[in-house]
Amino acid sequence: MTSTTRPLLNRRLAEFGTTIFAEMSALALSTGSINLGQGFPDTDGPEEVREAAVRALRDGRGNQYPPGPGVPELRTAIAAHQQRRYGLSYDPDTEVLVTAGATEAIAAALLALLEPGDEVIAFEPYYDSYAACIAMAGGTRVPVTLRPHEGRFRLDLDELRAAVTDRTRLLLINTPHNPTGTVLTRAELTAIAELAVERDLLVVTDEVYEHLVFDDAEHLPLATFPGMRERTVTIGSAGKSFSFTGWKVGWVTSAPGLVTAVRSAKQFLTYVSSGPFQYAVAEALALPDSYFTAFREDMLAKRDLLATGLTEAGFEVFRPAGTYFITTDIRPLGETDGFAFCRALPERAGVVAIPNAVFYDHREAGAPFVRFAFCKRTEVLEEAAKRLRAL
Ligand SMILES: *Cc1c(COP(=O)(O)O)cnc(C)c1O
Repeated sequence: MTSTTRPLLNRRLAEFGTTIFAEMSALALSTGSINLGQGFPDTDGPEEVREAAVRALRDGRGNQYPPGPGVPELRTAIAAHQQRRYGLSYDPDTEVLVTAGATEAIAAALLALLEPGDEVIAFEPYYDSYAACIAMAGGTRVPVTLRPHEGRFRLDLDELRAAVTDRTRLLLINTPHNPTGTVLTRAELTAIAELAVERDLLVVTDEVYEHLVFDDAEHLPLATFPGMRERTVTIGSAGKSFSFTGWKVGWVTSAPGLVTAVRSAKQFLTYVSSGPFQYAVAEALALPDSYFTAFREDMLAKRDLLATGLTEAGFEVFRPAGTYFITTDIRPLGETDGFAFCRALPERAGVVAIPNAVFYDHREAGAPFVRFAFCKRTEVLEEAAKRLRAL
């Protein structure tokens, strides 16, 4: 076949057309709706961190290709952060890698660690890049569905164990979990760790919301569990922790062999990125605990504001223990199809949300769930809540 008769998009990516975010953001614009679809803050992070980026840029730090693994200042700051928060010690030279956001870290980890045909177990609903990256790496995704149970989306550990086969190469974990807001408990993480050790699996864990946990939930890195440090690739990001999602500074911490493997893939994706921002993020990671506490309290107040509005509007609300997002069930409103609901919502109420079904392989399992982002200014959330109450 010639290049024109054959489909242009290859078979690995054919199922991933354009993301729902493009459609919904266009709808938000054309209807003048409040966009609670995509998860980015509508205010920037700390002024001193922004100033640190300006200083780096003016001082000529990072304006040319930074070192492949990331600038030493940032690698040291990442290691110090893991030590200070979690008691995990990593060598900045051999166990830390800076990436173009968590997105590149996920892609590089999967491209580096998978052989074609390897199975990857991930929780559905999944973060939208997981399925595409597994596909690009030639892997096969095996979803384990998180299901609502007593007000929270819960992992069924028996289902997880049953999903492991002789072809399983890695577990792709995300806690705090986007979009459900579930934070895995110590008991769940212990079971995951035991399974990984027993079946000799690699683990890639996306912990970009590590600083956004609420109420009495606690973020526990999987790498802190017995037998996990040497088999776990931990991923973090400045985007979510410091509200600079456009900077695209992410990182990997892991054992030297795994970091070397991930770096092998990463060097041919971006090679390096975000030079001056790396210096600013190094300063951000060293911010005192008071920054992280205030950030969490601010987001908690936003969560509660939107959760109350959604409850009053008639949704069933799964109050998230972490992340930027609230997942709701639309069935109490007499609706069953999240896609149709989200397509109509801008006209009906002037608000944009995302149907969780797009994050599932088993679309029917996600059909009645709809996700709202609460990382927005208070007045925006108040107006959204007011509009939704009119439903
Ligand atoms: C936002 C997000 C990412 C991507 O992070 P970047 O640093 O912006 O690339 C990865 N995983 C999850 C779960 C996210 O919500």
